[in-house]
Amino acid sequence: MEIIRIPRIMQNTSRKYLQKGQSIGFVPTMGALHEGHLSLIRRARAENDIVVVSIFVNPKQFGPAEDFTAYPRDTDNDIAKVRELGIDTLFIPEASLMYPEGFATGISVGMLSGRLCGLFRAGHFMGVATVVTKLLNLVSPTRSYFGQKDFQQTVVISRMVKDLNMNVEIVVCPTVREIDGLAMSSRNRYLTLEERTGATVLYRTMTLVSAALHTGTAVAAGLKEMLQSELKREPLITAIDYASLYSPETLEELQELDGKEVLIAIAVRLGRTRLIDNLLVNLS
Ligand code: AMP
Repeated sequence: MEIIRIPRIMQNTSRKYLQKGQSIGFVPTMGALHEGHLSLIRRARAENDIVVVSIFVNPKQFGPAEDFTAYPRDTDNDIAKVRELGIDTLFIPEASLMYPEGFATGISVGMLSGRLCGLFRAGHFMGVATVVTKLLNLVSPTRSYFGQKDFQQTVVISRMVKDLNMNVEIVVCPTVREIDGLAMSSRNRYLTLEERTGATVLYRTMTLVSAALHTGTAVAAGLKEMLQSELKREPLITAIDYASLYSPETLEELQELDGKEVLIAIAVRLGRTRLIDNLLVNLS
């Protein structure tokens, strides 16, 4: 496994792979790798000749009051984990090389960036879209792998790739969960023992609402109410940023359940930690 820290070298290395006719699977991450990340890497390993993983805690996708400095960094363990999975290249760029002085470009993906998390994290999706564009330009992957855990991110990236004719297939992989249903996340490390127990309310509540959706008699407003009131029963939840039913295509809140697919999406604060989760329910 080769570790590359210089963007230009990453670009040259990818060019060599492509010249040999090898397909490249790419998994961008912010590190502190867990089984969720590893599932993406295994999928990329199974579907491509070459696998590239990046670790980059992207300053541009954190707001000034967010956890950029505190975000978990665990590079030595991460290197051991990806080495075990037999990846070819690990790309760990320095922020100063990704955003040298004078950097001025930002990719804006319209309304999709403004909904759900976009309402609470100004500039977040511009930071994400900009860094993903840079990484795709450096790695030139055949396929790039993203987790459904960050559903809005997959919608924003897919839209951008389509709009800008980027030559890459976006593969969305299922959310990996702990045994009690909590979606794996690098931010789960912030949780106290009590908060970790309380965090199970997210998946439990979504499962409850999903079951109600399948009965076919429920109405959107009633299910939103059910989501919110179940979440409020957990006293450690300090704020509900959003919790409702959305169109998986437009991310607009659903007033009626007339689509085939419904996205149940939640963002809450549990103490000082912000947790998101979602469930895609197929009604057909
Ligand atoms: P991050 O390091 O949080 O930026 O995540 C890197 C990639 O891993 C993103 O595409 C995430 O959606 C994905 N990911 C994070 N957590 C999970 C999970 N529990 N299951 C599946 N994919 C995940």
